[in-house]
Amino acid sequence: MLRLKNINTYYGKVHALKNVSLHLDEGEIVTLVGANGAGKTTILNTISGVTPAAGGEILFGKEQITALMPDRIVKLGISQVPEGRQVFKPLSVEDNLELGAYLRYRSGEGKSAIHQDMQQIFSLFPRLEERRRQLAGTMSGGEQQMLAIGRALMAKPKMLLLDEPSMGLAPLVVQEIFKVLARLRQEQGTTILLVEQNAKAALKLADRGYVLETGKVILEGPSNELMENAEVKRAYLGKD
Ligand code: ATP
Repeated sequence: MLRLKNINTYYGKVHALKNVSLHLDEGEIVTLVGANGAGKTTILNTISGVTPAAGGEILFGKEQITALMPDRIVKLGISQVPEGRQVFKPLSVEDNLELGAYLRYRSGEGKSAIHQDMQQIFSLFPRLEERRRQLAGTMSGGEQQMLAIGRALMAKPKMLLLDEPSMGLAPLVVQEIFKVLARLRQEQGTTILLVEQNAKAALKLADRGYVLETGKVILEGPSNELMENAEVKRAYLGKD
């Protein structure tokens, strides 16, 4: 469904991604594991068009998306949940969700279909429905993360890019969010690319993973194999 071939991305002179190749099949959950600065966020931003690649190609289905603008990429069906959530704090939960459907409104889709999707998001995250009129900035970190995911879902993506959804959240909240991700894949067939510091939780959820080091893929494989790999255990899974 998505294929990166020999992607190279730079920030000025910083060579952040070095010949990165990876793929996701339809309905897969894939995780990117790596230390701070390894290039995980840059991979997501390169796919979504925020930080375009200088070389290589990205195919989404049969479409070349390498040089497309971010809004075109959203329209094709890839939505990103950014690091740090970045919800619109002075706006209500409902208005944040409406903004997630901005491109759908702009392309003439009617309110009723969009509001039906909002109901579906409320069924995934009942907390958001309870708080639909609350200002996003006054919600807890976990609730803001749910809202950021909900907002991305309002674009009706085929693929979701998630950047560190567990950051700063209590373990129970992380579990709740990861359960929703599993449900999304199961019920809607959403393909998910997950970036996580919490490699253990991410590998438990994912089908496959890629391990990154200083901008390169150094290891890839099914999650259960990566979890058994001595190097992965030592560097990313801690002791137990
Ligand atoms: P983290 O978990 O800390 O977010 P990461 O694996 O997501 O790390 P990236 O944020 O993708 O890593 O960063 C990859 C490299 O690119 C790092 O060396 C980083 O310092 C550099 N980098 C990232 N953003 C910029 C930027 N806007 N300008 C210059 N260099 C950047």
